[in-house]
Amino acid sequence: MSSDEEEGGERMNWRIDVQHFASLFRGHPDAFGLMQDGKIAAVRCPVSLLHYRHHLEGKIRLGIYPLLSNGRTLFLALDFDGPGSRESAWRVLHFARHFHLPFVWEVSKSGDAHLWLFFSGPVSSRDARRVARMLLEESEARAEIFPKQDEVPEGGLGNFIWLPLSGESVGKGRTLFIDPESLDPYPDQNSFLSGVRKVSEEDLARLVDMNGLNATDHRADRECGQARTYPGHLLPCAQKMLEGVSEGCRDVVAFRLAIHLKSHGYTWERAKELLQDWNATRNRPPLSSGEVAAKVQSAYLRGYSGYGCEDPLIVPFCEESCPVKQKTLAVQFVAEEGCR
Ligand code: SF4
Repeated sequence: MSSDEEEGGERMNWRIDVQHFASLFRGHPDAFGLMQDGKIAAVRCPVSLLHYRHHLEGKIRLGIYPLLSNGRTLFLALDFDGPGSRESAWRVLHFARHFHLPFVWEVSKSGDAHLWLFFSGPVSSRDARRVARMLLEESEARAEIFPKQDEVPEGGLGNFIWLPLSGESVGKGRTLFIDPESLDPYPDQNSFLSGVRKVSEEDLARLVDMNGLNATDHRADRECGQARTYPGHLLPCAQKMLEGVSEGCRDVVAFRLAIHLKSHGYTWERAKELLQDWNATRNRPPLSSGEVAAKVQSAYLRGYSGYGCEDPLIVPFCEESCPVKQKTLAVQFVAEEGCR
């Protein structure tokens, strides 16, 4: 439990109620992310109050998976990074107030901004994400949305997010909740959290209905042309590769992308169509259409299944948060440490 931390020489006299903290930041019960001794690991073990306590005490840094079962979640988080992140967060937070969405602001570990919104019970991640996209679009802001997925296949987890009030950072004035007007940390973080308002499932559904967000995904496809027509549920490296690649890795990437599409159930015809379009609109210079067709054919007909995670041409597209990566790390970590 974090308490009495120093910040800029000032004592901060608050003590976090671990149970309340754990009830607010509740995610998938059987998995968590961990930073310990400089290593990130995804752990397939039940999350306990002790984990939260150790996080607040700074013994570990805890991440939780926002997606519960059946594509439900108890909170929405927006992660703003880079230049202008505070201004963007401020715009979104103020715009959200028009809809009575009481986001709270955490200054992240890097000094950027996280906005959190809590629900009084599990809500549809799809709806929560629709609302988040609307807020970002209307505020002309960019942020990562957590949960990152509407739903995941059975046994999947999605991506985890690091929790605020990390004991190792609060003393540096980071991972604290701040007043959006003054940008100063609330003097009593515990009492601030105990007063946080939550949004009901009914209110969220009403917001989605009233703003026609059920149709947002289709509208985005139409309005933004090719940019939104690619599959949004592929693994992180595939998402990045779909943004277009350079001449040196076009062949390898086309082949690996075909494998991603195949393993996500895309027909050969559909994969070919998507990759021809990707090649023509994103790659500079593009491959010939015959080369793309050959890559897809090879991936589909020869029983290949690997994503090429170790391939030096694929590694630059890889992300730590990828479930494939986390699964590997989790197996290693549990094998080394066991559940505790
Ligand atoms: S672990 Fe493999 S599948 Fe996942 S992002 Fe990295 S390269 Fe892609």
